[in-house]
Amino acid sequence: MRLLRRNRRRPRSVHKMGRYHAVFLDKDGTLIEDVPYNVDPHKIRLMPGVALGLRALQDAGYRLIVVSNQSGVARGYFAETSLRAVFQRLQQLLAATGVTLSDFYYCPHHPEGTVERYALGCHCRKPQPALILRAARDHDVDLSRSWFVGDILDDAEAGHRAGCRTILVDVGSETEWLDGSQRRPDYIAHNFAEAARAILAHHFSSSNGG
Ligand SMILES: [Mg+2]
Ligand SMILES: [Zn+2]
Repeated sequence: MRLLRRNRRRPRSVHKMGRYHAVFLDKDGTLIEDVPYNVDPHKIRLMPGVALGLRALQDAGYRLIVVSNQSGVARGYFAETSLRAVFQRLQQLLAATGVTLSDFYYCPHHPEGTVERYALGCHCRKPQPALILRAARDHDVDLSRSWFVGDILDDAEAGHRAGCRTILVDVGSETEWLDGSQRRPDYIAHNFAEAARAILAHHFSSSNGG
C-alpha cells in the first residue's frame, strides 16, 4: 500500500542497481512518539533529534522513505484513508526544517484483524521486507547503500532481509529481544540524532576511503 501516487512514468534504469541511496524509516517510536493506533494529526509529535537528523541525511543525498506497520486498519481502529492525514501532518512538521519525505508505505493487514478484507497474513508486514523492496523499485534505490532505522528488532530484520544496513534506535520499545541472524542491528543508537550521525560517519568514511 502506498499513499503517494505518481502519474509520470519513471525512465527504466539502465543499471541493475538503483541510482539512489535511501534511509527507510519506521514511523511510530522512531520518527514520532508512539501513541498506539493514533491517527489524530494533533497528537503527532516528532521524537527528539528527528528533524535535524533527517535534514543532515537529506543533505547527504539520502531519499527518506517511511515504511510502517499499521495493523490498526485490520483491527478496525481506523480507516485506511485516515493515514493520509497522518502522513500530511508528518510532512508539515518536517517542512519547517526543510525536510521532504519521498514516500510513505504501510501494511494495513494483520492475521488476527477484525476487518475481513485486511485480516490476513501478508508479505508486507515487517519483519517481512516486501514494502522495502517495492519502495526500492519505485524510487530506483540501491539497497546495499541504504539503511533501515527503527525502534524494534522486527525493523532490523525487515531491513536486513531487504539487503540494507540497519540501526536500532533503542528507546525502550523492544522488550522481547528475540534473537536471530537477521535481527542483529548493525548499530544501536540511543536516539535519532545518534542514528543519523552513525549513517553519515559510515557514508563519508566509505566515500572518502574508497
Ligand atoms: Mg516502531
Ligand atoms: Zn501487509
